[in-house]
Amino acid sequence: MRCGSADCDDAERRTAYTPNVTRREDAGVRIGIDLGTTHSLAAVLMDGQAIIIPNLLGERLTPSAVSVDNDGRTLVGAPAKSRELTHPGETVCNFKRDMGTERTWTLGRKSMRSESLSALVLADLRQSVEEHLGQRVLEAVVTVPAYFGEDQRRATQAACEIAGLHVERIINEPTAAALAYGFGNPQSEAKLVVLDLGGGTFDVSVLEVTDGIIEILASAGDARLGGEDFVELMMEHCGKRILETEGVDLSRAADLSAKLRLACERAKRALSSAERASVVVAGVGPSARTFTLEVTREQVHGWWAPLVSRMQTPIRQALKDAGWMRSAVDQVLLVGGATRMPLVDGLVANVFNKEGTRTLSPDEAVAVGAAVQAALKADDAQVEDLVVTDIAPFSLGVDHSSEHGRHRVNGMFSAIVERGTVLPASRSHVFTTIDNNQRWVEFGVYQGEHALCEHNTKIGEYTIKGVPAGPAGSEQIEVRFSYDLNGLLEVETTVLSTGKKHTLVLDRSGRGMTKAEVGRAQTMLQSLKFHPRDALPNVAALERAEALFTTLTRDDRALLGELIGSFKSCLESQDPALIREHRQQLLVIVERLQQH
Ligand code: AMP
Repeated sequence: MRCGSADCDDAERRTAYTPNVTRREDAGVRIGIDLGTTHSLAAVLMDGQAIIIPNLLGERLTPSAVSVDNDGRTLVGAPAKSRELTHPGETVCNFKRDMGTERTWTLGRKSMRSESLSALVLADLRQSVEEHLGQRVLEAVVTVPAYFGEDQRRATQAACEIAGLHVERIINEPTAAALAYGFGNPQSEAKLVVLDLGGGTFDVSVLEVTDGIIEILASAGDARLGGEDFVELMMEHCGKRILETEGVDLSRAADLSAKLRLACERAKRALSSAERASVVVAGVGPSARTFTLEVTREQVHGWWAPLVSRMQTPIRQALKDAGWMRSAVDQVLLVGGATRMPLVDGLVANVFNKEGTRTLSPDEAVAVGAAVQAALKADDAQVEDLVVTDIAPFSLGVDHSSEHGRHRVNGMFSAIVERGTVLPASRSHVFTTIDNNQRWVEFGVYQGEHALCEHNTKIGEYTIKGVPAGPAGSEQIEVRFSYDLNGLLEVETTVLSTGKKHTLVLDRSGRGMTKAEVGRAQTMLQSLKFHPRDALPNVAALERAEALFTTLTRDDRALLGELIGSFKSCLESQDPALIREHRQQLLVIVERLQQH
């Protein structure tokens, strides 16, 4: 905490981010969304079953990818992913890794942050659900890696708001996996460890399940370690070999690098079920040569050893925080696509002396758990016997100065909410003034475990003004942290002598989006808004009808022409329910006329 004896200038105050989407109480569905680094998906509970909702292409997984085509149209999901190779400069993948940072990508003429790109994926998932079920999405529960910090969680919330999704709850991915397990095994009693290795993050959670009560005891992780890092390491080694043997540097051009990435991704997956694989990069240079490099599982496991050793740190940490011996663990649940790599089995055998459990689908468990949480939030009878408690994955606190004789040491970290505290939590500390006539107090809020703030992550800065003048140590200020179920923080301060309270607003240290920026991003995405006539089912229906039209004559032709015209004008209404109805009518007539 820093302080001064004069009133400081009015700092620019930014409005705290709070969801502003109005709640709609009409019939509709509550869904769970796994917003993943490589894939995203949505699930819902219906008739006691968890259902993965296919996207508009009928696929369960939607690539987290965005691209802009030659006509300036925005593509999301598989159509965007397929352009990664052919148009790497106009396609963005893996943007979740930069959630909560200021990084931007230029797509067409627009510059977008990770929040806006994620919003496009979220909006696409919502549209798929609404199309598939014919019901509106009332609310969604969205998952984040347990080890996401404050900035990344707020950025995820901002993405939901930009997408116009009503999201009151974000939950940790391994907690969602545990919920999926609890939902599928209502009577079980077990001490579990969840290892969640996705595309971009690694999370470890230690938990206990007893008769439907799921208690998360500890979480740890690495927010920058996932399946993509295995690919990148493989690219580095393969690129080096190709440079040595062929004299071609594949990393120098974006298109070659994209080809190498795809080849390594394919080889990585192939090595999950075979001992050897080939990294094949075709069309290199003016003569379009093809490079082929044979790799073995043993060889790449050698390359990947540093990543495996990084995975051990959070496992050890989570077990220690829970106070468990490795031998206490009954089951190790493996979720996240990258746990399919055999080296994860090796790690589990090494650390826990047992085999990992793969009863949950590694790609789908998190979305199912999010759907279970959405049902829990709505007091749905399908989940009436389930209860879950989660914890704070990081310590949160403030900087303070301490006096040692004549010396003052600044920048010490004073934790207010310790990691592992059960959420929601509200904790306070009282600090005293340290200068004579100190009229204001300034402090930074940090997240992390180090004794010195400079080694932790700064997530905000506050100034409390109006402290009554007096000798050093005469005034006391209470700082209260309230950590909600989403793992998000609210800070309240009270000058104890006057009772004056401030509910403080995070100064986002320039990293998060302000309310105004969220509004601008919404407007920008609306300007790219995909017209319903570009939505796949509508395009497909029209193409089918127009192709048939050319083959018809007289009355049939007139009837179909009229229906095509009315469907086109209905598309302008942008009313999804009306469009769906007209499309179905059009397709029924198309079917009938085709049988004539
Ligand atoms: P998720 O974010 O859970 O969808 O995980 C995606 C990650 O899992 C990506 O890095 C994929 O490359 C990886 N992955 C998916 N299938 C496999 C597989 N068969 N072998 C190795 N990694 C895989």
